[in-house]
Amino acid sequence: TFAILNGKLIERNQAKMDIEDRGYQFGDGVYEVIRVYNGKMFTLQEHLERFERSTKSIGVSLPYTMDQLKSLLLELVEKNNLRLGIIYMQITRGVAPRNHAFPEENVEPTLVAYTREMPRPKDELQTGVKTILTEDIRWLRCDIKSLNLLGNILAKQKAVEHGCFEAIQHRGQNVTEGSSSNIFMVKNGIVITHESNHMILKGITKDVILGLCSASGIPVNERAFTLKELAEADEVFLSSTVAEVMPIIEVEGKVVGNGEPGPITRKIQELFVNEIEKQCGA
Ligand code: PLP
Repeated sequence: TFAILNGKLIERNQAKMDIEDRGYQFGDGVYEVIRVYNGKMFTLQEHLERFERSTKSIGVSLPYTMDQLKSLLLELVEKNNLRLGIIYMQITRGVAPRNHAFPEENVEPTLVAYTREMPRPKDELQTGVKTILTEDIRWLRCDIKSLNLLGNILAKQKAVEHGCFEAIQHRGQNVTEGSSSNIFMVKNGIVITHESNHMILKGITKDVILGLCSASGIPVNERAFTLKELAEADEVFLSSTVAEVMPIIEVEGKVVGNGEPGPITRKIQELFVNEIEKQCGA
């Protein structure tokens, strides 16, 4: 298969990185994960815009226009004959002698992208998944899609060790987001999810869901909610590019609702699949 390295499509196994790349040494970079359904990129524009925002927020200047980047990704998907899967793309501040401060001279950022086949998580989408709770120990710029993921990694590992799909993070009493997802709860017919500020990543899937809800008259309240509210929720679900609209049927060993994906979650799942079909014809 092929990968993009600094604007060129090359054989993936020919893609070599310098040991002083700042992404490798410091996690000094940002990334995106984009879903491909039916050979087409879902919410591509939104991902490109977030990518640009992330680069700006860390002072990396993208050496490509959005149109150039778009054509590169299109070419990558085509060359790799990807039908159902993901694109992973990241940019780092580039290669320079190790020093925390930005490099002095004009160092070119390193851009990498590759694809991977990935099915939709059909079984889990049907049955729902279990989650645990964990304190959010991350920094206060969670809105940047940073390569620095140690907090997220430790949270996810804890979930896996407890036989769970995801770890729901909270800062004190307030639920923030999952280790690699946004968290939603439903109470009395209202969908509640943390506002998109510096405490969480502004998920593309989250925003698609909020748009679908408002278009279909499902009331939404974008605000932080507490662990107590979560424990008393009628329905809980998570969202991400990879996991889509995933019902949560257990939080920290406690069953949500009657232990089955709830009606509003099901409705949003249906709306989401329609949106995929609309955009990608899948
Ligand atoms: N929050 C975090 C910490 C994530 O890593 C992700 C993505 O994997 C999300 C939320 C969901 O974002 P998106 O819907 O754009 O994939």
